[in-house]
Amino acid sequence: MAAALTVARGRVFWIARTLREVEHVSAHCRFLGIEVAVVKGRAELCPALSEPMTSEEASAYCSAVRLRCQYYTNMLSGVEPSCPYYMQFNQTKNAKVIAATYNMLLKAGRLVPLPPVRSEDILVVDEAHNIIATVEEHSFTKASLERALQELSIIKGPPALRDFLHRLLANMASFKPSTRAAILAESLIYHGKQLRRLLAEKGLRPRSSLHSVGKALRAACRSPFRIEDDRFTVVEVKELELPRAPTVFLSGTIGRHEAELLGAEYLDFTVFASYEAETYVTEDLTSAYEQRTPEMFKRYAELLRRIKSPAIAFAASYKVLQGIVEADKELEQQAFIERPDMKSAEAEELAEAWKALARRGEPALYIGVCGGRGSEGVDFNEAQAILILGAPFPEPDDPALQALYQYYADKFASDAEVREPERLAELHAVVLPAARKVAQAVGRAFREPGKRALVILADQRFKRLKRLLPKWIVRELRVVNSDQVPPRLGTQREGMMSLGVIE
Ligand code: SF4
Repeated sequence: MAAALTVARGRVFWIARTLREVEHVSAHCRFLGIEVAVVKGRAELCPALSEPMTSEEASAYCSAVRLRCQYYTNMLSGVEPSCPYYMQFNQTKNAKVIAATYNMLLKAGRLVPLPPVRSEDILVVDEAHNIIATVEEHSFTKASLERALQELSIIKGPPALRDFLHRLLANMASFKPSTRAAILAESLIYHGKQLRRLLAEKGLRPRSSLHSVGKALRAACRSPFRIEDDRFTVVEVKELELPRAPTVFLSGTIGRHEAELLGAEYLDFTVFASYEAETYVTEDLTSAYEQRTPEMFKRYAELLRRIKSPAIAFAASYKVLQGIVEADKELEQQAFIERPDMKSAEAEELAEAWKALARRGEPALYIGVCGGRGSEGVDFNEAQAILILGAPFPEPDDPALQALYQYYADKFASDAEVREPERLAELHAVVLPAARKVAQAVGRAFREPGKRALVILADQRFKRLKRLLPKWIVRELRVVNSDQVPPRLGTQREGMMSLGVIE
């Protein structure tokens, strides 16, 4: 922040993924005595919401009720209580730093009355790995189609839409992308908006299956989709459009390849990190799809059992996690294990319960998934060992993989200077996202300068992935068999048979 303020001739716009990260920036500014304006969304600020809503719902709610909203009228007349959402923009006029989520600055476009980012300003994109080709998933089930039909009869929608929904309900696979399908999808969205407005006017959450089914079908007219277990899923790849201004992308997990994609010069500060990682790659383990046998999962479970200090472990996927837990059923009772359907509060409780034991120095074990809740948002500074259970390449049946690969293949194929578009597409769609997930997950245990911990990269493929990981993780990396991994930090046996040190 201090560097950005020194260089900026105008303001500093600082954007981050979550409001919590934005609040951190604001605290730093206040510490530096800099005037800062934090811009929040309606979901956080609107006093008229009857229940918690997503930012998109809160925005739809506001546009439906604004003209008869007392807070809005008060704001226009300059009396209290007035709308805190609109009032916050007054503070941005004189602020040297404007901090907001990506959502507020980039997605909302011109609807948000923020001052524009100009060429004399500096835009800082924090945790910039989040803005590289983001994947958005839309899905619906037969139950959603039934609800959409009910909604259509409430708003007396046209028979053509009813027939279309009935056909989908009878056979989802009857959907074929076409101009007519795109028009019908738009029409579903239009009628869904009508219903949402009716709900908002009654003070209710503006949710509509017509709207969500329409959005999924519209996306399916331009992106690959699949139907499995009566669930229609489509994944869209989106690129956030940044304003034209000098921009600094900050991330501890992106490297030269991503910087090139962002059109930015790459400066690697990870070489200066003061963390001390004692890192091992296990030669006899892999989560490669074709080698996932009960025996392999048992070896992973045995590796977890070897560690005798507070540890966190992140599996390559929930399928791998499930395989390991099935191989050693006692882990379920003894470890703190994430579930894919966990709500935020539950996940926080789980992490706190692990921390309480870890602070007492007990060999508590937390197991999550790379890219899951614990691996990206939680600080596990108490961990003295961090294990990555398998290289987190996407599962072969992951719809996001196909969409991302297609996106990059098209992007590189249209660039005359790119020689091997398929290889680059694989690098960006498969390999780099996996490396970023590992860097994120390992970073959970290193939250203060000088922190020391064991890092166990439990998949032989990390020997090759090493070059894409931050330098501080792989400064000196030993290749061993899993039964040679030391049980705690600094207990590496003299003369331990190492299969090699990769410099
Ligand atoms: S105008 Fe009313 S509905 Fe809209 S954000 Fe403000 S208080 Fe909420």
